[in-house]
Amino acid sequence: MSPAQLERLGEHLQRLRLFKSRERLEALLQEAASEELSFADFLDRVLGEEVASKTAKNITMRTNLARFPFVKSLEAFDFAYQPSLDKKQIQTLASCHYIEHGENIVVLGPPGVGKSHLAVGLGLKAIEAGYRVLFCTAAGLIANLTKALAEGRLEEKIKLYSVPRLLIIDEIGYLPIERQGANLFFQLISRRYERGPMILTSNQSFGAWGEVFGDRVIATAILDRVLHHAITINIRGNSYRLKDKLKAGLVRPEEPAPIT
Ligand code: ADP
Ligand code: MG
Repeated sequence: MSPAQLERLGEHLQRLRLFKSRERLEALLQEAASEELSFADFLDRVLGEEVASKTAKNITMRTNLARFPFVKSLEAFDFAYQPSLDKKQIQTLASCHYIEHGENIVVLGPPGVGKSHLAVGLGLKAIEAGYRVLFCTAAGLIANLTKALAEGRLEEKIKLYSVPRLLIIDEIGYLPIERQGANLFFQLISRRYERGPMILTSNQSFGAWGEVFGDRVIATAILDRVLHHAITINIRGNSYRLKDKLKAGLVRPEEPAPIT
């Protein structure tokens, strides 16, 4: 192959935005010669590498857009530490059928048992499956909606939270919610109802959501919509943050009251 042809090929690949193939062009040609690849095998390898590279880039981009607080996979979750969790159930959820069926997932449990980790892990699976995901905390979401309302941009903000196929709302119940905040939260839940699946996490049982939202009627209306099509996962166990302390006998394991 002449240097001019090599350069032309590089330009074509650049023009077609096949960046991986451009970067690997000479190495690919050498591999093809040394391994005596057939034309079909060569094309297969070039396109295969390009698709893999573009897919990985796309996943990284959508992972950044999701605004996770940390990136931890389901594979990094130690199910042995949390025996109340049904590993099979979580693996089934990892296949994302719940998203297609418009079902919500609600993860309940005391602090440190891995609710956020599970939510992020399932979010990453959804991204790998090609969905757009957005992660927020209940407090962050309500603060944003309240600010948008004051600035006359509520509709715009609600849209922002309605567009991603999967919305994760973490930490419901850590901070008390004012009446206006509860109303805004309800508006968003209504907008996504039966259209956009959500993963919600809370350290409070459903029975306590009346206090969380400062209003039993609003809490009931929110729960009514959230739970209409929902899978509830109750984690009853010890905080993973105490794992080493528990092991060292520095603290006693808790027997948390079951959450219903
Ligand atoms: P929660 O949201 O329930 O308060 P997190 O998901 O934030 O708890 O978990 C606290 C920390 O412990 C995180 O760094 C998380 O990755 C880790 N963690 C919790 N449970 C597990 C587990 N079973 N296996 C591996 N890491 C875990
Ligand atoms: Mg958390």
